[in-house]
Amino acid sequence: MINQLFSKLEEYYEEMVSIRRFMHQHPELSFQEYNTAQFIQTFYENLGIEVKGKVGGNGVVAKVYGKKPGKTVALRADFDALPIHDEKDVPYKSLVPGVMHACGHDGHTATLLVLAKALNELKDDLEGNYVFIHQHAEEFAPGGAISMIKDGCLEGVDAIFGTHLWASETTGTIQYRTGPIMAAADRFEIDIQGKGGHGAQPHKTRDAIVTASQLVLNLQQIVSRKVNPVHSAVVTVGSFTAENAFNVIADKAKLIGTVRTFNDEVRQFIEEEMEKIIQGTCHLSDSSFTFLYERGYPAVVNHAKETEFLITCAKDVPEVLTIEESELQMGGEDFAYYLKEIPGTFFFTGAKPPGADPGFPHHHPKFDIDENAMLIAAKTLGTAAIRVHQAE
Ligand code: MN
Repeated sequence: MINQLFSKLEEYYEEMVSIRRFMHQHPELSFQEYNTAQFIQTFYENLGIEVKGKVGGNGVVAKVYGKKPGKTVALRADFDALPIHDEKDVPYKSLVPGVMHACGHDGHTATLLVLAKALNELKDDLEGNYVFIHQHAEEFAPGGAISMIKDGCLEGVDAIFGTHLWASETTGTIQYRTGPIMAAADRFEIDIQGKGGHGAQPHKTRDAIVTASQLVLNLQQIVSRKVNPVHSAVVTVGSFTAENAFNVIADKAKLIGTVRTFNDEVRQFIEEEMEKIIQGTCHLSDSSFTFLYERGYPAVVNHAKETEFLITCAKDVPEVLTIEESELQMGGEDFAYYLKEIPGTFFFTGAKPPGADPGFPHHHPKFDIDENAMLIAAKTLGTAAIRVHQAE
C-alpha cells in the first residue's frame, strides 16, 4: 500500500509543483484567502471528494473514507501568505504586489492536495478515514485553527499530523521533537505617560524617553535574572516610539514587543513580572502607564507516542536521509491548538533550495523552497496516515 502511494505521488509530482507555483503567483493575506479557498474546494469537487468550505472562516475540510474500518486521521496544511513584496527572480514570482508566499504555505497546500488525491485513489484498500484540514490564516493571530476547531474540523478525529517545509534544513532532513517544539508567541504594548516640556528645563518635566529607556533595560532582567535558566524565554522590545522636536522633552513614549515561552507557567510568570517592572520603573519617575499583554498562539507541544510513530514512518521514506531532533524554535504556529485537543505531532521537512547556502530565511522577500521537499513531506505524511491504523 505504501509503495502504491509513493508511486502515485511520484506520478503526480509535476501537478504538485504546478499547484504550488500557481499559488505562489496568486498569494492572499490571512483572513482574505477567498480565491485560494475556492481553488482548494474546486480541486476536491473535481475529484468527487467530499469537501466543505467556509469552515470557521475561509477554512476547507475534505474527507476520504477508506473501505475498511479504522481510525480517523487528520492532516493539516495552511494556505495564507504574507504582506511581503516578492523580490525573487523566478517565473513563478508573485503577481500580487506586496503579497507573497514567504513561508512555504503554498507548498504545504500543494503537498496535501496531491496526497489527498493519491489516497482517494487507494481508498478501496485503505483502513479508516482521512480528514484534510486546509487552514486559513496561520500567520495572523487569532489564526484560523481555533475557529476551524470550534466549527468542528476535529470531530471524530483520533490523531493529527502536520509538517512545515523548513528552508533552513537540507532537503532529505526530517526534524521531530517530543514535547514543546515551537514557542508561545505573545505581544505587548506599553504606553508611558510622563510630562513634556522644554528641552532645557528637564527639572520641570517627567521625561518619558528616559523612563521608557530604563524600562527597556529593566525588562531584560526577566529572562537573565528571573526565569529559571533551564527554561527558554525571550522578551523583545521591537518598537520604541517617542516622536518630538530636538529641543522638547517627550511627554509620552510607546514600547511594543513580543514574549516567547514554551510552558504556561513561565508565560504567566513573565506577564506578571513585566507588570511589576513597569510599575516600579514608572513609579521612580512619577509617570503613569498602560500595559496591554495579548496572548498569541500557545506553544506547539508534540505528543510523545505520535512523535515516535512519525519517526518510524520517516525511516521508510527512501528520500529521507537524516532524521534528527529539532532544536526548540522560538517562532509560533497555531498548529498548537490542534495538539491541545487531540494527539499528534508537528515536524519539519527540510526544504533548503539547492545551492542556497545559507539561503533566505522564512518571511524574507527572497524566500523560496526546494520543491522536491514537497514529495518527501507527502510521502512522510501519507505513510503516517496509512499506518496510524496499525499503530498501538
Ligand atoms: Mn509558516
